[in-house]
Amino acid sequence: MEKTIRDFIRHRVWALSGAAVGGWLLLPLSAAIYKGHPPPVAAIIGVVLFGSAIVFLQFSVKCPKCSRRLGQTIAMPVAFSGKKSAPNFCPYCAVNLDDPMPGAPTPTENVTTPDKLVWK
Ligand SMILES: [Zn+2]
Repeated sequence: MEKTIRDFIRHRVWALSGAAVGGWLLLPLSAAIYKGHPPPVAAIIGVVLFGSAIVFLQFSVKCPKCSRRLGQTIAMPVAFSGKKSAPNFCPYCAVNLDDPMPGAPTPTENVTTPDKLVWK
């Protein structure tokens, strides 16, 4: 199966959202484990993980064709809404999100393989 631009955006948003939720959950989990007094290291790690994931989500989700940031425009609807209500194109260059990733080999490319391998 061919990887589309939509798959790329969805995968990146889901990974970063998972990191953000993990950082956010680290605070109450560490507070529950340490009886209401979370150690400062766990709190700092949770806050840094959450914050960096959110910032990285804004700056690293880019259109593979025009390299414009999509974090504040269509990244979240593309990742979390159904295919019928999600945007179908980049708002900057209008590339179809169901097109294959630029630079990825297409299934129609002729891949030549040698008829027989010669071991020397
Ligand atoms: Zn674009």
